[in-house]
Amino acid sequence: MRPARFMLHRPTSLREALALKAELGEAATFHAGGTELLVALKAHVLQYDHVIDIKQVQELREIRLLDDGALRIGSLSTHHVIAHDPLVQRLLPGYADLSDHVANIRVRVAGTLGGVLCFAEPHADAPTMLCALDARIVLANTTGQRNVPSREFHVGEFATARKDDELLVSIDVPPQLPGDRSAYRPFGHTERPAVGVAAVWSPQGSQRLRLWTGAVVAVPVALCKAQEVAQSLPSQAPFDEVWRALEPVITAEAEQIDAHDDLHGSADYKKHLVTVLAQRALQECLQ
Ligand SMILES: Cc1cc2nc3c(=O)[nH]c(=O)nc-3n(C[C@H](O)[C@H](O)[C@H](O)COP(=O)(O)OP(=O)(O)OC[C@H]3O[C@@H](n4cnc5c(N)ncnc54)[C@H](O)[C@@H]3O)c2cc1C
Repeated sequence: MRPARFMLHRPTSLREALALKAELGEAATFHAGGTELLVALKAHVLQYDHVIDIKQVQELREIRLLDDGALRIGSLSTHHVIAHDPLVQRLLPGYADLSDHVANIRVRVAGTLGGVLCFAEPHADAPTMLCALDARIVLANTTGQRNVPSREFHVGEFATARKDDELLVSIDVPPQLPGDRSAYRPFGHTERPAVGVAAVWSPQGSQRLRLWTGAVVAVPVALCKAQEVAQSLPSQAPFDEVWRALEPVITAEAEQIDAHDDLHGSADYKKHLVTVLAQRALQECLQ
């Protein structure tokens, strides 16, 4: 099917993109890589009179260190660019690896980080990892900018904390402490993950473990009990010791998740995957 007719706008600066959106209101939407939007427009699931293609806005492509040591990833960065960026590879190897395994190469070269976050399809990889990394989502409209913790950004299926007139500018990942290790493990039998688990093990941090699971329900979920138990584990504990302490807690916590049967698997299967993938992610962090 063809999309309904729309007017295409191609701003070349952030200021111009925001002004266009403010002027055109809800009749307009942003277009980044188009991997989700174009499918929805063609299926007439979404319909807009105006499409604001932001691909020429260069300031949304930067990947650089901020003064506070955070890594800024511009929202227009594609999964492929993130996977191969030297800064991401050096500072967040677990996240670079995740980006290198999103979907397939066609989606990775066109699909952007801003797009996957804003579309908020629950079966995605990056949101889970960004929650574990405690990232900040930077949003802007014509009146200014604000930061939203990644943990509060997704509020439901296809729903985020972004206001309609806001553009996602960047994702800022705070500096990791020396010795921090992060890993993400997904599993699924379609192109999208049925379940993913992200772990950050921090020997020197005030929080020893950040453990999140995604795709099981509409938004990423923290495995809080496991995080609590990890607080009492020695920072240099070997994987076997950590897993002995955490496995029963994670299994019990996964059981409590309000998962549903769908094309990605039964609720029980997905809960089982949470424990399996948590083990793999932790093993990667602690090996
Ligand atoms: C076949 C297939 C398989 C996939 N598999 C996976 C997978 O395994 N793991 C995974 O994580 N993801 C997967 N995805 C999702 C993929 O990551 C996204 O399609 C892609 O990143 C979306 O980015 P985009 O730039 O194409 O977004 P677009 O399609 O351009 O936009 C998507 C939505 O976000 C809005 N938007 C985009 N950028 C901004 C911005 N900067 N500010 C405000 N709003 C914005 C648009 O208005 C639109 O509503 C898959 C997608 C497909 C099609």
